[in-house]
Amino acid sequence: MSDKVIPIRVAGAPSAPGVDMPAPYAGGALRDLRGRRLRDLRISVTDRCNFRCIYCMPRAVFDSDYRFLPHSAILSFEEIARLARVFVAMGVEKLRLTGGEPLVRRDLDRLIAMLAETGVDIALTTNGSLLAKQARALKAAGLQRVTVSLDSLDDATFRAMNDADYPVARVLEGIDAAAAAGLAPIKINMVVKRGTNDHQIVDAARHWRGSGHILRFIEFMDVGSTNGWRMDDVVPSGDVVRRISEVFPLVPLEASYSGEVAERWRYVDGGGEIGVISSVTQAFCSECTRLRLSTEGKLFTCLFAEHGHDLMPLLRGGASDEVLRDAIAAVWLPRNDRYSEIRTAETAKQRKVEMSYIGG
Ligand code: SAM
Ligand code: SF4
Ligand code: SF4
Repeated sequence: MSDKVIPIRVAGAPSAPGVDMPAPYAGGALRDLRGRRLRDLRISVTDRCNFRCIYCMPRAVFDSDYRFLPHSAILSFEEIARLARVFVAMGVEKLRLTGGEPLVRRDLDRLIAMLAETGVDIALTTNGSLLAKQARALKAAGLQRVTVSLDSLDDATFRAMNDADYPVARVLEGIDAAAAAGLAPIKINMVVKRGTNDHQIVDAARHWRGSGHILRFIEFMDVGSTNGWRMDDVVPSGDVVRRISEVFPLVPLEASYSGEVAERWRYVDGGGEIGVISSVTQAFCSECTRLRLSTEGKLFTCLFAEHGHDLMPLLRGGASDEVLRDAIAAVWLPRNDRYSEIRTAETAKQRKVEMSYIGG
C-alpha cells in the first residue's frame, strides 16, 4: 500500500526533523481534541488473507497481481511488542490483533506471549479458518478472547461471500476448538449486506441463541475504496433487531463499559444476547477510543482515514521509548476524527485506507 504518509514531528527524534515540535508527553491518560481517551490499540499483523470477502478484499482488486507488503516492510514481533509496551505505559488497556487474516502470520502465538507480558487484555479477530489448528496454542500463549467473523450459516451464501469457496463447517470447527480451548465467550461477527445475506439474519440468531457465544451484526461500511459500497446495501441495525424480535423477542441491555461500540440486546426468554454495530446509521465517534497500528508501523486515528502517521523511521532509526511516546502523543492529541457522523454519499467516494490493510 503506497498511501501518502503524514510525518510525525518530534523533537530529538533521530530521523524525523523537529518541525512543529509537540509538547513532550507529560504522563497520564491522553485525550484527543474531542476529549476521547486513548484506550484501545488495534494491531494489524498482516495485510494478507486467505479469503476474498466481497465487502473487504474484492477479488478483482486483490488478485494475483496485487502487491502485498514485503516482509522487510512489516513490523517484526519485537517491534510490535515494544510499541505495545509503550502504548500500555500511556494508558492503553486493550490490544486486539487483526489484519488481513492474523492467523496467516506465522507463529502468532509467539507474538501473543510477548504481548501477554504487558498484562493487558489481548483479543484477536479472525475469519476462523485456521483456528481449529491454533486455538490451544493461542490460549496457552495468553490470548484471552476471540472474535470470529462468520457472515452466513448457509454454505452457498458463505462460500460466495468469502469468495474463496471456504465451507462454513470448517469455521464452525474453529469456533468449537476456540471454545474448548477456553477462549469463550466467543463473539461472532456477521456483516450484513442487503440482498446477499440479510435473509440469514434470523437463522443466525436461531443458531447462536443459547450457545453462550455472542452474535453481533455489523452494518456494511464504506471502508476503503474498492468494495463498491452503496447506502442501499446497508441494512440498518434497527431492522436487524426488529426482524429478530418478531421471532425471538429482545429487550435492550446496558453497555458493559463506556465506549462499547456494540449496542446489546437480550433475548426475553433467556437465550443470551446479541449485539449490533451501527457504524453507518448510529455513529459512535464521540466514544471512539481506538487507535490503529498498521502492519508497516503507521498509526491511523480513524478507520476511514486516508493517511497514516509513520512510526517506522523512529523505530528503525534508534528512537528511545520517550521519543516514541512523544510521537504517539503528537498523533493522538490533535485527533479530531468523526467520519461516521459526517458521512455522505460524497465522502463515501473519497479515497480511504483499505480495511484489510488497517485491520477492522
Ligand atoms: N480477517 C479477520 C476477520 O475477517 O475477522 C480480521 C480482519 S477483518 C478486516 C475485521 C472485521 O472487519 C471482520 O469482522 C470483517 O467482517 C469486518 N469488515 C471487513 N470489511 C467490512 C465492511 N466493508 N463493512 C463492515 N465490516 C467489515
Ligand atoms: Fe480477509 Fe477478514 Fe477481509 Fe474477509 S474480512 S477478506 S477474512 S481480512
Ligand atoms: Fe472512530 Fe472514525 Fe469510526 Fe468514528 S468513524 S467511530 S472516529 S473509527
